[in-house]
Amino acid sequence: MNTPFLPFTRPSIDEDTIADVANVLRSGWITSGPKVQAFEAVLSHYCGGRAVRVFSSGTATLEVALRLAKVGAHDDRPGGVQQDTVITTPLTWVATANVILAVGATPVFVDIDPVTRNLDLDQLEAAITAETKAIIPVDLAGLPVDRDRLYAIARKHGLRVIEDAAQSLGASWNGRPIGSTGDFVSFSFHANKNLTTGEGGALVLPADVDPALCERLRLQGVKRFPDGGMDVDMLGGKANLTDIAAAIGLGQMKHLTAFTERRRALARRYFEQIDPSIVAMGLELPPADFENANWHMFQPLLPDNAKRGVFIAAMKARGIGVGVHYPALHLFSLYRKLGWQEGDFPEAERVGRRTITLPLFPAMSEADVDRVCAAIKDSLPDCIER
Ligand SMILES: *Cc1c(COP(=O)(O)O)cnc(C)c1O
Repeated sequence: MNTPFLPFTRPSIDEDTIADVANVLRSGWITSGPKVQAFEAVLSHYCGGRAVRVFSSGTATLEVALRLAKVGAHDDRPGGVQQDTVITTPLTWVATANVILAVGATPVFVDIDPVTRNLDLDQLEAAITAETKAIIPVDLAGLPVDRDRLYAIARKHGLRVIEDAAQSLGASWNGRPIGSTGDFVSFSFHANKNLTTGEGGALVLPADVDPALCERLRLQGVKRFPDGGMDVDMLGGKANLTDIAAAIGLGQMKHLTAFTERRRALARRYFEQIDPSIVAMGLELPPADFENANWHMFQPLLPDNAKRGVFIAAMKARGIGVGVHYPALHLFSLYRKLGWQEGDFPEAERVGRRTITLPLFPAMSEADVDRVCAAIKDSLPDCIER
């Protein structure tokens, strides 16, 4: 039998959305316009009426949030240039830390909680210093960081929070959707995320930030006047979303709840179908959260003595795509050059070495999950180093 290749993820875009994208293309207006405004309105409604602005990427939203929070390098203090520090996790997509460097601030990493694989809140407070301005928590794989504990610490120390919720749109905390509470909240609509516009992102703004200022940071610092005139008195980037992309986002938003439910059902199926003998071999399953998490990814950890490259190749040979998200980022060359090294964050390193991302996306069937589990049972024993 010829079974088609099963990738680790694949977007679900319906025919109505494709037709609407075609409408935008025929309309004569394809960059930011009415579709962007409509998409922002739908996202704002989802986020309980909070102000939301969309961007060309999640990375851009994080960088703009840091600028809006006035985090960066300052030379207004005695002693010359002072760099703010921002606390985050080393186990995330590298964008989270890159934006801290991009605004001239210094990342401070706190190791992960080995159970949730998110920033360890037990270690967070000890990392806060006079230079700390903000925290960027990441909801890895769509499992939310404990918002109650996080904000209690942030409030106590007067720190801003920029939630990197790139992976957690559709997830919730205390029954409230991620994005509907908190300080800054950043979403990504990259092709692999739970809701996609191809590329794109959204920033949920706190009440003390003027959305007009956010718009100016998004587009060259341009301020427009009712008489048609304009001025530029600050430096802004170029990170607006197109109406083509916004039309995809509007179509996707109609399915967000169903996508999340489907992902949860498939994750449950994994827990039921993964063979106990594989778990006995040392495969570690992710936390079984079916209330808060949106199951952006299903990520077991391979046994310590398994060769990941061999396993991924064996799965591929069986027609199954397996991803790696992510190696601990402080071990990338750029960050090593800045002074980080092996052993700095042992839990993040351990997870980063062992993590695998199994196929999980709304269009998958239960039979697909079963096929993945059977392939693991077949492949894993041959990948163990003896
Ligand atoms: C995807 C992602 C980003 C960046 O989003 P882009 O839209 O690719 O710029 C940032 N942080 C995390 C955790 C992500 O998964």
